[in-house]
Amino acid sequence: MNRKLNFNAGPSALPIEVLEQLQEHLVDFQGDGISIIENSHRGKSFDALYHETLDLVRELLGVPEGYSVLFLGGGATLQFGMIPMNFLALEAGADYIRSGSWSDGACKDAQKVGRVNLLFDGSSGGYTTLPAADTVKPTEGTSYLYLCSNETIGGVQWKKWPETGSVPLIVDMSSDILSKPVPVDRFDMIFAGVQKNLGPAGATLIIMKDELAKRSRDDLPGYLNYHAHIQKDGLMNTPPVFTIWAVKLVLEWVKAQGGAAAMDTLSQRKSSLLYGVIDSMGDFYRCPVDPLYRSTMNVVFRLPTEELEKEFITAAGKQGMVGLKGHRSVGGCRASIYNGVPEDSVEALAGFMKEFARTHG
Ligand SMILES: *Cc1c(COP(=O)(O)O)cnc(C)c1O
Repeated sequence: MNRKLNFNAGPSALPIEVLEQLQEHLVDFQGDGISIIENSHRGKSFDALYHETLDLVRELLGVPEGYSVLFLGGGATLQFGMIPMNFLALEAGADYIRSGSWSDGACKDAQKVGRVNLLFDGSSGGYTTLPAADTVKPTEGTSYLYLCSNETIGGVQWKKWPETGSVPLIVDMSSDILSKPVPVDRFDMIFAGVQKNLGPAGATLIIMKDELAKRSRDDLPGYLNYHAHIQKDGLMNTPPVFTIWAVKLVLEWVKAQGGAAAMDTLSQRKSSLLYGVIDSMGDFYRCPVDPLYRSTMNVVFRLPTEELEKEFITAAGKQGMVGLKGHRSVGGCRASIYNGVPEDSVEALAGFMKEFARTHG
């Protein structure tokens, strides 16, 4: 078997142990004689699997009482629309931090529903920095404050959280969920497309304070209403069965590694290694992101010219390294080093980067 070193931004690397378990148990799930993806989502096997998965989410992320956990379809992108549809009160508007492509997408959808107050707009600076958390103050009476904890394309990551008092804090954690411990009780809603750190594509994890869910607008179609999902225990309709199974295996893997704290240590080590190379090869590599907010998940960097960037990506490909091209909207290079990316892949990349700079600098 010739597995690549996978630095894809999403869908992205999964632990090999998880892929092997999926393969081993696909055809006959726990002696059922059929696979879990051929079985009823109201049946015993899925019911047990589903509730074990929810319990693992609660345990590994430290979700307190008074919060519900859901897996919805539609990707993280559906949440960009569902959040304002449910919670944006017309008179009050909602506060947004526009820190990159993903929060920009969320702003655009919210603007179709109501008024958006931009508390911070990083677009003029090319989305390379964030406001200091303690300077972020919600607007009086606003519906909620929205931010993206890790901008996957720009590589900008929050390290501390704003204090919002009674204003609900809603966060898109798609690309850094479970990469470190987070104080869930500081948030009213966390959501994350699972295909970066938690599994394959097909589901969005939602952790929502029940008090917030109760404020969902009740004139929305069923699937768009958070409260309705919670009342149905997340099983209003057929859930993404396969994805939930894979997420469960990933969560078990994370638990066996030592949980969120262990993922944090590992992510710090992996990202420091790459930023160390970027900062130590003269001005061959350059990370455009403010050092205070460099992402531990998506390490973005530039080379002296676009020609060299192309050459770098091609040469890395020959070494079996894939997914290093920056997002098409920004160019450059990006190494996504989620939980599923082994440390030795990152060490190999760091070694390759040093060598490439030595021979091309
Ligand atoms: C990938 C990503 C999304 C979009 O996820 P989809 O599941 O493709 O809709 C949203 N926000 C962030 C931060 C992401 O990284």
